[in-house]
Amino acid sequence: MNKLVVASHNPKKLQELQAILAQVGYQTIGASEVHLPDVEETEDTFVGNATLKVESAFRHLNFPALADDSGFCVDALNGAPGVYSARYEGGYQRVLKEIAHLTKPNDRRAHFVCIIAYIDENGEQHNFEGRISGHIPMEPQGTAGFAYDPIFIPDGFDITFAEMTAEQKHSLSHRGQALAKLVEHLRQKAK
Ligand code: IMP
Repeated sequence: MNKLVVASHNPKKLQELQAILAQVGYQTIGASEVHLPDVEETEDTFVGNATLKVESAFRHLNFPALADDSGFCVDALNGAPGVYSARYEGGYQRVLKEIAHLTKPNDRRAHFVCIIAYIDENGEQHNFEGRISGHIPMEPQGTAGFAYDPIFIPDGFDITFAEMTAEQKHSLSHRGQALAKLVEHLRQKAK
């Protein structure tokens, strides 16, 4: 079986990746298992931060690795919280407050982005992007998911990510899309 290091210490992320990558013949190894140091996300783009994490893993282990970086971008806030989503003090309540004066869905546009960066056994990096657009309701809706899920209604739906099952969210989400592209790449490679 092929092996792949996932440069994340988040057990939920690891579990999800483990299940999906096993289907294409890859065994995943978590960052903690191989004692990878935490990497500070100092870049101001998703690609930049995913690259920092995956390069650090590859440098330490000289072994195929992947890392992801994701976030929530609000048009009316010039893309904030963006790469700072995890560190945005006040979370979704703050976003709701900052755009409270905008009442039309069209003025409340937002999207999620996820970049998965993968370095293969030859040291070559490939990036896979997933993106989903939608708008922010006036009030939070739903309790499933995490972080900004209660304030994101994807285009074509009238419920938020936090009102969907995990499967439904994953089939649409930025992370699901980036992961599907990575899986397709690994499939082609195996041919
Ligand atoms: P990362 O783990 O460094 O990629 O940080 C991503 C941050 O973006 C998370 O901590 C959340 O605040 C936000 N985020 C990314 N994906 C999602 C999602 O699917 N739902 C809600 N928030 C998300």
